[in-house]
Amino acid sequence: MIVSRFAPAPTGLLHIGHVVNAIYVWGLARAADGVVLLRIEDHDRQRSRPEFERAILDDLEWLGFEADAPPVRQSDRVAIYAGALDRLRTAGLVYACECSRRDVERTAGGLGSDPASGQAALEAELRYPGTCASKHLRERHRLGTRIRLARSVETFEDVRHGRREQCAADQCGDLLARDREGNWTYQFAVTVDDHEQGVTLVIRGDDLLASTGRQIQLARLIGRETPPLFLHHALIMKTPAQKLSKADGDTSVRDLRASGHTPGQVIARAARLAGLCSAEEIAAGQAASLVGPRYEAALRRRR
Ligand code: GLU
Repeated sequence: MIVSRFAPAPTGLLHIGHVVNAIYVWGLARAADGVVLLRIEDHDRQRSRPEFERAILDDLEWLGFEADAPPVRQSDRVAIYAGALDRLRTAGLVYACECSRRDVERTAGGLGSDPASGQAALEAELRYPGTCASKHLRERHRLGTRIRLARSVETFEDVRHGRREQCAADQCGDLLARDREGNWTYQFAVTVDDHEQGVTLVIRGDDLLASTGRQIQLARLIGRETPPLFLHHALIMKTPAQKLSKADGDTSVRDLRASGHTPGQVIARAARLAGLCSAEEIAAGQAASLVGPRYEAALRRRR
């Protein structure tokens, strides 16, 4: 059974890049008679806003993307994250870390590398060098919490990119589960959620391809035997080097709505920008059905 999810962060408005992701998520899940879950990823309490969450839910409904269960919010799931962390602690895999991001920048000795995956990271990332790994600091308020990762290579088959190998220890070092402000991190929350919610197909943009190996490794540590399947799709770029962001108001679903576009036109525009169809090919509103045939066979082979 395919269980996929749409997982926006309520740190801004839904933009055309999210619509591309929704086309993939709903398109593939529906083609496989699967289920779509909706998860509001508000793990970053400083940047998340209830008004963005409301706008995202409203835009999704307007576009006609309907999830199969009520939305869940990461901020309502902190007990689940704490439980997962407890289990890792019992296994001796958790340690407190006093390093700030600036400390890591100073001591990292360069950016993490991912030569095995053979792809240039879209976003260079810092590698935590393990400064606090053997300091035995007491876990407390204002300290971060990290998970010890083994120096192992994860191999996985991305539905679109094919076989990849990633070594998280080389890319990013021991994973931060909770930061010094007390926020659960994206990597930790998303891995626990995908496991606890029974997600079997993760569909997201290429900017997260580099995070996949570490999420597979962490998932195994918290008890997941079979990782989900992953499909990373191309991002809609503002310029070749610049990702589209929610700050680019001209591409928000809100603005397209306000300027008189119909839901079908917005979906068609996203599908065209993503190279899923040409202007002639698409009948408005049918974009979701375009992805299914394209990837369904590949998915079936890997299931
Ligand atoms: N919350 C992430 C975002 O809005 C998506 C995370 C994921 O799909 O793993 O980009």
